[in-house]
Amino acid sequence: MKITGKTRLLGIIGYPLTYTISPQIHNAALDAAGVDARYLPMVVQAHHLKEAVEGLKALDILGVNVTMPHKEATVRLLDRLDESAHAIGAVNTIAFEDRASVGHNTDALGFLASLREAGFEAEGKRSVVVGAGGAARAVVSALASIGARVSIINRTKERGDQLAAAIKDIYEKSRLEVVEFGGESADRVKDAELIVNATPIGMSGSTGETPLPAELFRAGQLVYDLIYEPAETRLLREAAERGARTMGGLSMLVHQAAASFEIWTGVPAPLAVMKDAAVSALEIGS
Ligand code: NAP
Repeated sequence: MKITGKTRLLGIIGYPLTYTISPQIHNAALDAAGVDARYLPMVVQAHHLKEAVEGLKALDILGVNVTMPHKEATVRLLDRLDESAHAIGAVNTIAFEDRASVGHNTDALGFLASLREAGFEAEGKRSVVVGAGGAARAVVSALASIGARVSIINRTKERGDQLAAAIKDIYEKSRLEVVEFGGESADRVKDAELIVNATPIGMSGSTGETPLPAELFRAGQLVYDLIYEPAETRLLREAAERGARTMGGLSMLVHQAAASFEIWTGVPAPLAVMKDAAVSALEIGS
């Protein structure tokens, strides 16, 4: 695509940005949708975050994604937050509108869209989320917002308690509990219809590991691993062997990107193009 005086700028801020595939996903989408904009990696270290956000606003760019380690710190640096960013306590998308910076979090939307795409209705269902970090916050908030029952299992129970308290502050009627690993957690997993791994256990580098033992899975469950590299983790392989449906993290990754794209451009996101771009970037090793 030709860069002219009218070309707008998008990007991603984080540190480091070695593994991100967002530039490939978004540039493919911009080309397919005919939007005159480019998406670039912008390496920003923590001690420069405030200046970087102010600078981006001054440059009047369309927006940026925010990734590790800045998602939580960015919350305090913006003019406004949408409901999702407020509920999750983290921002993954900034839109600059009329020289104001608005924080969004499209991870929760992306997670719900991926469940819809898989034809899974989570409303009222029993679910288990393993983990209480950034991704778990988005997933628990998404599930609470649609009235699913959620058991949070986390290695550090206090972090699980903090997550449950923060979500209950926003969704007062949410049905959340925090369970320690071992003990009752096995029963919760056996009973659940949806089990989500929101820890990095099983990612490239720890592919022999799994957060939950295989014997807890059965037919009638959807086992969802947020990890997208590798596409099939040990957790997913063992759950499938026990008859459960399984799902990897690629769909959520693409749907959260699509939601960001639509916030910035107002144009429907070309989902199939974004998915193909993500798959090729992962195959090439980004
Ligand atoms: P994070 O904020 O660092 O949180 C990691 C969580 O995993 C914490 O709750 C931590 O427990 C737990 N954990 C880490 N290592 C563990 C271990 N060895 N044993 C037990 N628990 C362990 O990370 P995050 O940003 O939430 O990311 C989590 C995963 O989600 C990553 O694999 C990431 O790639 C994936 N993700 C996918 C998408 C997507 O779109 N598909 C989006 C975001 C993230 P403690 O609290 O005890 O430390």
